[in-house]
Amino acid sequence: MKHQLYEGVLTARDAKRHIPHPFTVPEDAVRLTLTLRFSPYQVHNATNMLTLTLFDPAGFRGAGHRGGDEHTVQIGPATATPGYEPGPLPPGEWIAQIDTHMIMPGEPVRYTLFVEIEQGAPEPVSAPASPRRPVARQGPGWFRGDLHSHTDHSDANRSVAELVQAARTAGLDFIFLTDHNTVSGLAEMQSMGDERLLAAGGIELTTFWGHALVLGAHTWVDWRFRPGAGDITRIAVEAAAHGQLFIIAHPQSLGDPYCTGCIWRYPEMMPGVAQLVEVWNGPWAGDSNNEPALALWYDWLNQGLRLVATAGTDTHGNDDYAQRPGFSIVYADELSEEAILRAVRAGHLYLSAGPTLHFSAQNDAGRSWTLGDEVDQPATLTVSWRDCPPGAEARLLANGRLWTAWPCEAPGERRWPVTPALADWYVVEVRADNGELLALTNPIFFAS
Ligand SMILES: [Zn+2]
Ligand SMILES: [Zn+2]
Repeated sequence: MKHQLYEGVLTARDAKRHIPHPFTVPEDAVRLTLTLRFSPYQVHNATNMLTLTLFDPAGFRGAGHRGGDEHTVQIGPATATPGYEPGPLPPGEWIAQIDTHMIMPGEPVRYTLFVEIEQGAPEPVSAPASPRRPVARQGPGWFRGDLHSHTDHSDANRSVAELVQAARTAGLDFIFLTDHNTVSGLAEMQSMGDERLLAAGGIELTTFWGHALVLGAHTWVDWRFRPGAGDITRIAVEAAAHGQLFIIAHPQSLGDPYCTGCIWRYPEMMPGVAQLVEVWNGPWAGDSNNEPALALWYDWLNQGLRLVATAGTDTHGNDDYAQRPGFSIVYADELSEEAILRAVRAGHLYLSAGPTLHFSAQNDAGRSWTLGDEVDQPATLTVSWRDCPPGAEARLLANGRLWTAWPCEAPGERRWPVTPALADWYVVEVRADNGELLALTNPIFFAS
């Protein structure tokens, strides 16, 4: 057994840093245990937040993005603390990195990091999780699902199996696991899908200056950079080149000191190369400030920037699906990760906490366009709806301004002939009698 103890004192000026603690792992290591403790935890109404990221000689080995003033990480050939990757323990220099998400002004933070290395005969390794099903269901259709969710691999209190069960209970067709700064839950996640549920994943890039979902990323994405350095743009471009989706998450959420990095603060990506933005995070009237996020998206559309709007529940607990969050309803060629990502990228989706909406355009020759498409000629807009609650109102917006509104409690359909000169883009909103958003389409664009 080998031991190593590190101690340190941090002040508010050390916030948003990555502090490496190197240690040497010998040839015959069979288990590592790291324990990080720090104090104080609560400061006024906020908490100090330190997390641990682990690197082996080959690179990323896991992260525990969670609160608490004591973090214990165990890692061995067959098992690891959620957030970290089990597997062989290669000898050489490892790094235990303390990420200082929040250090409040006032009393300094004192921490200890204890590293314990057990040596001896390795534990037996069990069979790997069964491989994923690339295609859950053949054939095109509208698929309803969640693009943003968490488990105990980061800061939620439930397992991957419990998340998947919640998705099944809610009747979802797909769910993407997007834990903070780790992909350690994805192998198990993907093994749990079947023909009823596509279990897919990515990562929530949780930087100190903004969060972004990278859907379809199955390996770690390095998040240790600052605004203005060019990294965020490079990551978005690389994600797009690999068929992944880079989505700016909850851009107008509360930020520091309550939620470090939760508000989007990348001036080079307002929206820069970004092609997607999560305008609906969790329940509409929650802490994520969805209404300003929607206004920001409308503003970008009016600048001629054709970003796609997405919804993600950001679920961290089993009750969240009962709080009527927004889901994404996607028209895809089949139910597979690749097809869902392609369809979302094309804007073929609407967002809804309940109502069903269809919004399309047709010309007299029988040609039709759907959400996300561009129309270059006179056409008829068609909206049909059902499942609106009493008092709900459907609204057609042209260039972000109200064109017409009508009560939608009874199912129905409406049509309007339009020409490209009238407006550049149209969306349909459904709002409750208290003004809360219940459903939102992506735009149909017109080019003159
Ligand atoms: Zn986030
Ligand atoms: Zn999240």
